[in-house]
Amino acid sequence: MKKNICVLPGDGIGPEVTAQALKVLDAVADKFGHVFEYEQALIGGSAIDACGEPLPQATLDLCRKSDAVFLGAVGGPKWDKGGPRPEAGLLAIRKGLGLFANLRPVLLYPELLGGCPLKPERVAGGVDMLIVRELTGDVYFGQPAGRGSEQGLRTAFNNMIYREDEIERIAHLAFRLAQSRGKRLCSVDKANVLEVSRLWREVVIEVAVHYPDVELSHLYIDNAAMQLILRPGDFDVILTANLFGDILSDEAAVVSGSIGMLPSASLGEAHALYEPIHGSAPDIAGRDIANPMASVLSAAMLLRHSFALKKEAGAVERAVSATLAEGFRTGDIMEAGMRRISCTEAGDIICKKIMEQN
Ligand code: NAD
Repeated sequence: MKKNICVLPGDGIGPEVTAQALKVLDAVADKFGHVFEYEQALIGGSAIDACGEPLPQATLDLCRKSDAVFLGAVGGPKWDKGGPRPEAGLLAIRKGLGLFANLRPVLLYPELLGGCPLKPERVAGGVDMLIVRELTGDVYFGQPAGRGSEQGLRTAFNNMIYREDEIERIAHLAFRLAQSRGKRLCSVDKANVLEVSRLWREVVIEVAVHYPDVELSHLYIDNAAMQLILRPGDFDVILTANLFGDILSDEAAVVSGSIGMLPSASLGEAHALYEPIHGSAPDIAGRDIANPMASVLSAAMLLRHSFALKKEAGAVERAVSATLAEGFRTGDIMEAGMRRISCTEAGDIICKKIMEQN
């Protein structure tokens, strides 16, 4: 298989972790006889420095021509002092590529139980869930939105809007993903209060008819936030809207022990973008100590979702598990008795584990 990948390393640790993920993709290409070609482009702070804007048109054009987009991270204190924001590049690229679904798998590796802030008995059975968040609708984009005044007092308003086809589209995707996993889907909303959520629930129930093999349940967002901490191991696929997903996915991330372990995919009809969920971590950038596993696991998601290379994705995921099982740890997941490794060493060890697999 021959594929083009547009690589956007970004800022801070973005380029460091991305370099390891590309090394891993090269190992996969080598082992399984594929050709992956990379073309790099600018996004975020580095794009602001070079062209004055966080998402240059040339970057978007290149993304649109590629078979998949792979991103590092953007942002940093250098661009916090006014002027264009690197993070605006993220919203612009999601919009520009029509990415409507954000997939965040949350897996607690048995080797990293010590890093999980929950009591061991709460996660004893393991945690392996997938959060599917809608990305293009909701209160983030609803119009009108803005400022006003009432009786001489300042007011502000946002509009929570979903159209039924937006809900249908993400629901179908979430059900299909549930079919490929544990066949359980929990839809999270606030249907006891919000009209938008009542439409959300109605449409999800309609879509469910097409997936009789998937067990559908519903939770209100406030209860879901509690249950995620009380019994994280009970969830398979969680489907939710943009705002609730933003909050819930960060809450779930904590369960895995380190933000450096969590990959993500953002999918659209025609394009897909893969990135670790963490930011540019300016506090550790340039020291070769970041954990590249989130980025490496994002590359595994790319192989699975964009190129349908399931075997290859599995090989990467097993290599990460084997690296942890042998006691290799970057600083963020370091525990007594383990062997501390750098970002580059982590990439090298994962590549070696891929090449050693039968
Ligand atoms: P962050 O995710 O960059 O860092 C939070 C903490 O986690 C830091 O202590 C950092 O050292 C640590 N950390 C993050 N990734 C790590 C890794 N791979 N290995 C080891 N430790 C890791 O979040 P922040 O500090 O709030 O934000 C820093 C910058 O990143 C800001 O400019 C923010 O806007 C931006 N940001 C970008 C994205 C993105 O590009 N998708 C996401 C979140 C934040």
